[in-house]
Amino acid sequence: MLSTVLKSPSLSGHDTSRKSCLEKPCAVRKQDSRHGLLWNVALCCLLFTLNGLSEDSAGKSTSVRETLIRISTEKEGLVTHLYVENVQAADVTVTFEMELSNLEADVKFPYTVTLAGKKRLKLFALTPQQPNRGWSWTYTYYSTFGSTNVEHDNSYVYTLPYVPGKSYRVSQGYNGEYSHFGADQFAIDWRMPVGTPICAARGGLVVGVKNDSNIGGDDPKYDWDANYILVQHSDGTLGQYVHLQKGGCKVKVGQRIEAGDCIGLSGNTGHSTGPHLHFSVFKARDGKHRQTLPVRYKTADDFAVTLQEGRSYKASGSSAMLATGNVKGANVAVTDSAAGLRSSTEPDLLGARGSNAVGH
Ligand SMILES: [Zn+2]
Repeated sequence: MLSTVLKSPSLSGHDTSRKSCLEKPCAVRKQDSRHGLLWNVALCCLLFTLNGLSEDSAGKSTSVRETLIRISTEKEGLVTHLYVENVQAADVTVTFEMELSNLEADVKFPYTVTLAGKKRLKLFALTPQQPNRGWSWTYTYYSTFGSTNVEHDNSYVYTLPYVPGKSYRVSQGYNGEYSHFGADQFAIDWRMPVGTPICAARGGLVVGVKNDSNIGGDDPKYDWDANYILVQHSDGTLGQYVHLQKGGCKVKVGQRIEAGDCIGLSGNTGHSTGPHLHFSVFKARDGKHRQTLPVRYKTADDFAVTLQEGRSYKASGSSAMLATGNVKGANVAVTDSAAGLRSSTEPDLLGARGSNAVGH
């Protein structure tokens, strides 16, 4: 899994990315929260490369990179408190690394914390060791969808994510050579034509949707361009349905779904070698890495099977379910769950673009 570290200017376009990293005690209280920071932004970009993040590359990749968290600071005398806000509906895990000079923190680094959707937390406080001297701090953070504090319910048997009676071939299984290794080790790809109805493999709460991309190809530069649906399960794990066609996400953030509900239409957006559905269940290992989890599926022939690459599996269910396999909320167009939460008044210190890892 690639992890790409980038400075903020290349990502956010802010021209305020370089500030004095030194604070003079007498001036601190007069400065706004941006001062005193050497902005050293790092992103955990699972599967992402620098090319993939270049909006100008080939003039094609135009997707908006998602904000997962927002960092802010508050001063209390000489003490600086760092806060993090999760702007997503899904759990997000953040890992902070910090370089401190003449400062003491009340936590140890690297410091990892999971935030529930839409939550804001005080992370830690920085206190000058010798207040009569200057001090400096530099931080790097990594963020990714998912919680570290969850255990997958291994007794749960998943539904094949397509219409009952239909059969699709697993084009890449667990430990697949092309891309199912590292953080994507336990993902499954099913080869299927663009526009194939996708049904929920497990019920839960829809916590993320990307629906606006219509580009993709066999190139890492498309890593940010996959449409997807992200569902939080009852055990806290996340399920992600990836590469959906533009406008193919038929559910919205905040919607509860049941296993078997048809929630979207497959596609070929993002980094993809051809039309297929990529699905994985995962949690966060830390802010840098997601950890996919092996799950079993019921099929027309087996109650609980580990899917094998190269084999086709027919979804179980009656023909009645076929007839009622309606796509939910077909008229609902969801573009970006976080868009309404972006604030122009708060300092977007980091232009946080976490790892919305998009499988291949
Ligand atoms: Zn895949």
